[in-house]
Amino acid sequence: MENKVPFSTGPHMTSEEFRRHGYQIIDWIADYWERVEDFPVLSQVAPNEVRSQLPPLPPSAGESLERVFKDLENIILPGLTHWQSPNFFAYFPASCSAPSVLGELLCAGLGVQGMLWATSPACTELETHVLDWLVDMLDLPDKFKSTGSGGGVLQDYASSATLCALLAARERTTEGRSNRAGYQGKLVAYCSTQTHSSIEKAVRITGLGSDNLRLIEVNDNFAMLPDVLAAQIAKDRREGLVPCFVCATIGSTSSLAVDPVPEIGRICQQEGLWLHVDAAMAGSAAVCPEFQYLHQGLEYADSYCFNPHKWLLVNHDCDCFYVADKSALTNALAILPEYLKNVATEAGGVIDYRDWQIPLGRRFRSLKLWLTIRYYGIEGLQLHIRKHVGLAKLFTDLIEESDSFELAAPPFLNLVCFRHKGDDQTNQRILEKINKEGQIYLTHTKLNGQYVLRFCVGQIRTEEHHVRRAVDILERVAKC
Ligand SMILES: *Cc1c(COP(=O)(O)O)cnc(C)c1O
Repeated sequence: MENKVPFSTGPHMTSEEFRRHGYQIIDWIADYWERVEDFPVLSQVAPNEVRSQLPPLPPSAGESLERVFKDLENIILPGLTHWQSPNFFAYFPASCSAPSVLGELLCAGLGVQGMLWATSPACTELETHVLDWLVDMLDLPDKFKSTGSGGGVLQDYASSATLCALLAARERTTEGRSNRAGYQGKLVAYCSTQTHSSIEKAVRITGLGSDNLRLIEVNDNFAMLPDVLAAQIAKDRREGLVPCFVCATIGSTSSLAVDPVPEIGRICQQEGLWLHVDAAMAGSAAVCPEFQYLHQGLEYADSYCFNPHKWLLVNHDCDCFYVADKSALTNALAILPEYLKNVATEAGGVIDYRDWQIPLGRRFRSLKLWLTIRYYGIEGLQLHIRKHVGLAKLFTDLIEESDSFELAAPPFLNLVCFRHKGDDQTNQRILEKINKEGQIYLTHTKLNGQYVLRFCVGQIRTEEHHVRRAVDILERVAKC
C-alpha cells in the first residue's frame, strides 16, 4: 500500500482525497439522519430563495469540497423538504434505508453501463436473479419469472413501467402496425377514475390520446366496477373502436383502493385485452403472507409493477416491472443497430435489458435492491411493513375517537384518509396551517369531490409517539 502512487494527476481527485471526502460525506449523511427530525418537515423557503444565494457563474478554477459542504449546509438544506423526517406523513414514504444508500454508492462507484448483457454480464444477471427472488417473496405468479416465458426488469419509476406496458399492448393488438389506417385513433385504454395520472401520460405519449382513455366508475370503496368496464368495452366495439389495454390498480394513490383484479382479469381474457396491474405502493406489503391476497387475480395479468422505493426500503429510483410474455415487450422495443451487434446477443440465450425499456443506457440499479434484501432478509422487511400498518391502525383509532375528525375512506395498510367534520375550506385551512408550522407534513386528495387529508405512515424513524403527536397537532390546529 505505502509505495502506491496516487492514480490521479491533473484536475482529478486523488484516491487519498476521495477516501477522506468519502468518509466525510458518509459521516454527514449519518449525522443528517440523526438530526433530520430537528428541521421543519416542509421547506419554508420562498421561490427563488435558493437560487439567489448561488453565484451567477460557475467557478473557473476548481474549489475545495469544504466550501461546497458549507453551501450544502447553509443554502441547500433549508431548501429541502425532509422526506425522511419521522414526521413526514405526506404522499408516500421516502423508503431510504442505509443498505440501499450504500448500494447506490456502489452503483455510482462501479459506473458500469448495463444496456447489453455483454456490456456487464453481472449487471444483467444480478437484476434477473433479484427480480426472480421477488416473484417468490411477493407470491407473484411464476409466469413472471425469467425461467418461463416472462421476466422482470428494473425501471426507474412506475410511470415508465406503465408506458412500456402500453407500448407492448399496442404492439400486440395491432401486430406491429399501429400506424395502419384501421388503428389510427381507434385504440382504447381503460382505467378507473382513481387511477394514477401516469396512465393518461402514457396514452398521450403512445398516441392513443386522452380522448381514447376511458375512466371507469368506482364503488363506495373507490374500486373499479367491472360491469361498467365490460359495458364500456362492448360500447366501444359497437362504435368500431379497438379496445386494447386495461390498467387495474392495487392500492390507488388517493386512498389505496384495490380494484377487483380477478373480475377485471376475466373480462380482459375474454376480450383479448392487455391487463396491466399497478401496485406502486401497496405491492410491497405482499412480502408479508397476510397481505399476499392482494395479488389475487394476477394470473390474468400481462404485466405488473410495484415500487420498492415507495415502501420496501430501497431509495428511489427503483420500480420492478414484470411481463408474462417477454417477447410482447421486446417486439415493441427492440431495435438492433450495427454498433450494438455482438456475439452474445446474436447467439441468443442472454437478456439485453435495453430492449425492455425506453432509454438505451442503464445503471446497475439492482445492487441497492440486492443489498437491501440481503441486509434485512425477508423477516426484516416483514417487520418494517407490519410496523407501519400497526401505526396507521393507531392513527385510525385516534381519529375514530376524535370529536373533530372522521375517516373519509376505509383505511388500508399504511394510509388513512380522513377529514375535519367541517367543510372543505376548514380542511384546507388546517392542512395549510400545520404544513406551514413545519412540525409534521401531510398532503391531501379529493374523494367524491370532497377535500380529504391523507396520513401515510412509512418512514424508517417513525415511532408511536410521532403518530400520537401528529394527532395532538391536528386537534390543536382544528380548535383555533
Ligand atoms: C406513486 C404511484 C405511481 C407513480 O409512480 P412513479 O414511480 O413516481 O412514476 C403510479 N401508480 C400508483 C398507484 C402510485 O401510487
